[in-house]
Amino acid sequence: MRSTFLPFSKPSISEAEIEAVAEVMRSGWITTGSKALAFEQAFANYCGAQGAVALSSATAGMHLLLTALGIGPGDEVITPSLTWISTVNLIRLLGATPIFADVERDTLMVSSETVAPLISEQTKAIIPVHFAGAPVELDALRQLAAASQISLIGDAAHAAGTEYRGERIGHRGTTIFSFHPIKNLTCGEGGMFCSDDAEMLEHIRRLKFHGLGVDAFDRTMQGRSPQAEVLEPGFKYNLTDMAAVLGLGQLSRLDGFIEKRTQLAERYNKLLVEVDEILPLITPTYPMRHAWHLYVVRVDSKHEGMDRDRFMAALKEKNIGTGIHFKAAHLQRYYRETMPQPQGTLKNTEWNSARLCSLPLFPDMELSDVDEVVAAIKEVLA
Ligand SMILES: *Cc1c(COP(=O)(O)O)cnc(C)c1O
Repeated sequence: MRSTFLPFSKPSISEAEIEAVAEVMRSGWITTGSKALAFEQAFANYCGAQGAVALSSATAGMHLLLTALGIGPGDEVITPSLTWISTVNLIRLLGATPIFADVERDTLMVSSETVAPLISEQTKAIIPVHFAGAPVELDALRQLAAASQISLIGDAAHAAGTEYRGERIGHRGTTIFSFHPIKNLTCGEGGMFCSDDAEMLEHIRRLKFHGLGVDAFDRTMQGRSPQAEVLEPGFKYNLTDMAAVLGLGQLSRLDGFIEKRTQLAERYNKLLVEVDEILPLITPTYPMRHAWHLYVVRVDSKHEGMDRDRFMAALKEKNIGTGIHFKAAHLQRYYRETMPQPQGTLKNTEWNSARLCSLPLFPDMELSDVDEVVAAIKEVLA
């Protein structure tokens, strides 16, 4: 058994990044400023996006975008139930109705086939998730959204560095990234809004800082007027320079992180073929680069009493951490009680929600750690 605990995720922070954060702290300007601006430009450049707005989280980005789109009571937004709860909460908090699309059983992603029948007169947006670092099949969803004149919002919290048919996620359309500590690139907490719609970028920039046309940095450093006026009520979702400078360092290492994650994932793929009660996800066959944010398996044991939760507890006893991404939103207590879903409509979502489990995967892991995880899995299931 391992003598030290192996978490399922751990950020990789370099000494140079720590020093860069310390430098910002000594500089006299620690909130949104030149580093946030540089991070926005570097990230937009990396994705090939027309522009980017740095934010305090992806959840903040989703709140701003749904607000900018005017989504509210009477509107419907189509999203998988198998997503992080923040999306569903926001739709609900704005008074709109989340409409859950089922996912494909082995990719955990929605498709145009699962989304199309849910589109109604009330539908305002579709929010697919690029799950675990694989890209969703965007072309068909883009056509569907365009034909119905509804917004397509890419939830790319798992997909910094993911590529779809030769284009980087974030390059086209409207996309939101997360830099929470478990994500492929972190700045403690943070997010990035990318869009090819210049007007929308301007709107998000304004909404993220009280609805002012300018922020404190613009006023102090760029000589813009301290008399700037509120153009509409906004929020307070800006990213600090302390966080942004960490993001800049991480972005320069992102491709290296993905390379390492890919090696680790390929080793899991190879070793887990021998374990028939463990079902890894299947990667899409269209051209792509997988960013391997998560290594998700489904625990489908035939043994009496061995289920996903028991499996996770048994691995923990062997000093191996795991995670759940995600428990289906419609199975959370609040949503069960306030908007119960008709039986049998979200079959693949429910099947996976009971079985899925994320195994350890992070850049500072070694291939020998993967071997130990798989050995422990075999013992647990024996
Ligand atoms: C992490 C995550 C989010 C939220 O990101 P935050 O930066 O924590 O707000 C949204 N969607 C998905 C799929 C996520 O995994």
